[in-house]
Order: sequence, then structure tokens, then C-alpha cells
Amino acid sequence: MKRIYLDNSATTPIDPLVLESMTTAMTENYGNPSSIHAEGRKARATIEEARKRIANQLNCSIGEIFFTSGGTEASNMVLKNSVRDLGVGHIISSPLEHHCVLHSLDSIKESGAARISFVKVDREGKVDLDHLRELLAAANEKTLVSLMHANNEVGTLLPLDEVSKICQDNGALFHTDTVQTIGYYPIDLDKIPISFLAGSAHKFYGPKGIGFVYINGDNIIKPYLDGGAQERNMRGGTENLYGIVGMATALELAYVNLEARQKQIRLLRDYLGVQLENNVPGVEYNGDPIGGHYKILSVSFPKSPKGEMLLMNLDMAGISASGGSACSSGIDVGSHVVGHLHPDSERHTVRFSLNHHNTKEEIDYVVKELKKML
Ligand code: PLP
Repeated sequence: MKRIYLDNSATTPIDPLVLESMTTAMTENYGNPSSIHAEGRKARATIEEARKRIANQLNCSIGEIFFTSGGTEASNMVLKNSVRDLGVGHIISSPLEHHCVLHSLDSIKESGAARISFVKVDREGKVDLDHLRELLAAANEKTLVSLMHANNEVGTLLPLDEVSKICQDNGALFHTDTVQTIGYYPIDLDKIPISFLAGSAHKFYGPKGIGFVYINGDNIIKPYLDGGAQERNMRGGTENLYGIVGMATALELAYVNLEARQKQIRLLRDYLGVQLENNVPGVEYNGDPIGGHYKILSVSFPKSPKGEMLLMNLDMAGISASGGSACSSGIDVGSHVVGHLHPDSERHTVRFSLNHHNTKEEIDYVVKELKKML
């Protein structure tokens, strides 16, 4: 049975062209980038070229991109080191952030190094910008605002330009987790002032275990991993050259094909919504299905005994979706995002997240199976 993969917010399949670029690098580019001989120089040049390819897509300078192991490390680094190195004494975030942000905030709070405030969000997960302004106006300490661009569970989008302006007007630093939007929306760092931004290759058809952090040239934080002088002294350890090459290729492909992919995914996602509404009684959405991320449809179904086993039954029918985010422990413990937006709800949530390889036939099959299951 051919499987139907609708869990692209958890991760995406690697693009064959990305794989090709990586296997070429693996076979032909094995030097240690820190070595001074020819093999080392070749590897170093490849890494710096990849950095340039990534910076070009985001319209920033190459000196502002630092490679990390992914989005988790990028956000940990920004939050913890801006408190440690930049005198940040207050962080404003939202209760809907990814755990890599929320748990970093927990440990900052525990250490007593900075105060944490949470901005209000509405039932669709939209940030209350007036409340953000109030929190900023009332703060006496150096403040960093950390808000994700698109929520990975429900897809609600943040108006990046507006939030960046609010931060600028209030002299606050701005960190945004763009893990779900890099490669899906154009991001021009020359136009939108952002202090820190996190990206992860496996969300845009690149390899796992590689990502990057953008650090605006004005906000120099110190190394996250102590070791060698890699990443211009920002992160010790031999670079993941193959991952870096794959990520640069994936990002270029994502932006070259942006419009076509966007159109195709949005059409299919909207088709899924219409078909669900027409065939399954009591369908509702979490988040902002019209204005939110075009690849995500977070659907909820009325409480029913059959609903308890929905994800497992979908899996057995060859369909991969998720209950919220991909759970790191392998046990679905429910979603903190959906729980926050609908605290009293007993409905069953399924997050469908699409890619440009999905087809209308796949969607028809999914709706047919769901109809049977419910
Ligand atoms: N931030 C968001 C919004 C995500 O969806 C994810 C992955 O699920 C991460 C951060 C973590 O990224 P990584 O898997 O690269 O550590």
C-alpha cells in the first residue's frame, strides 16, 4: 500500500536534488574545513559558498548566518546567550511557542537570570499586539521579544513587519522562530529589522540535523559551544558539511519554486477543508485556516469513542498525520497549543500538513477513510 504523507510540519521528505548535492559532497569533499591543505580548503570554500547561498535568499550578510544542528539549537542559543551576553533582563514570548523556546524560557526563569512575560493570544492563536505594546512600555529592563512566525501546530501567522516595528519603537530585541516559514514565505532581512531568526533544513525538503541562526550584526552573542574556532568562534565542532550543502540547495530550490509550490499546496489544503466539511459531520478548525500557513490544516472532530484512536486508525489506513506536533517522546500527550486555545474542548484534533507532492486523489482517499472511521 502506498502511504500518504500529510505530516510535513513535522518533517519533509528530502528533495532528490538535495540528496544529489549531498552525495556529491560526501564523495568528493571529505576534507576537514579547518585543515589548511587542499582538501581542507576545498571543504572550507564549500561551506562559505553555502553560507552565501543562504544569505542571498534572505537578503542578509554572510557574516550574519551561523550554522547550527537545527531550529532547537538556534533558539536555545539566542535566548540563553542574549540573557548571558547582551544584558537582556526580560523576555516577552507567547504560550504557543515551540517547546524549544518554552523550555529554554523555563530554564532561564529557573536560573533567575531574566524575567519572562507572556503576551495574550486570541482563540485563533493571534498575538494581541496592543498587549505586546503594553508589556514593552511597562518594562524597565533590556527586553527581547520571542515570537514564532508561524505556529507549527495550527499554522497561525505573526505579522513579522508589524511586530518588528513595535520592537524597534520600544528599543527591544526581536527573535523569531521561522522554522515553519523559511522556504515557504519570502523573508527579506534587509527590509524587516529582526535581531535573531531560526531556521531548520528538514522543514523545507532538506536534511535533518542542520539549521542556522541569523544574528543581526549589531547583537553579537558569545559562543554557544566551546571548542575550536569554527563558525567564526561562535560554535566549536567540525561543521556538518554535507548537511550545510544540502540545506543551501534545499533553500534555493524552495525559493525558486516558491510560487508554484505555494499555489499547489494551498489549492489542495483548501480542497481538503471543503471535502471534510462536505463529508464528515461537525468539522471545526484550530487556528486561522484562512489567513494562516497554507500548508497546515488543523482540524477537530466532535468527541466520540472512535475519535480516540483516530491517528492510529489513519496510520493503519496508510495515512500519516499528527495530533499536534510530532511528539519527541513518541507518545502523543496532546498539544499545548490546542490545549491553550480550547482549554475545555474534548474534541479530537488532527493536524494535516501538506507538501507539493500530495495529490487530489490522496485527499479524496483520506476523506473517504475519515468518513468511515468517524
Ligand atoms: N520550531 C518550530 C516551530 C518547529 O516546528 C520545530 C520542529 O518541529 C522546531 C522549532 C525544532 O526544529 P529542529 O527539529 O530543527 O530542532
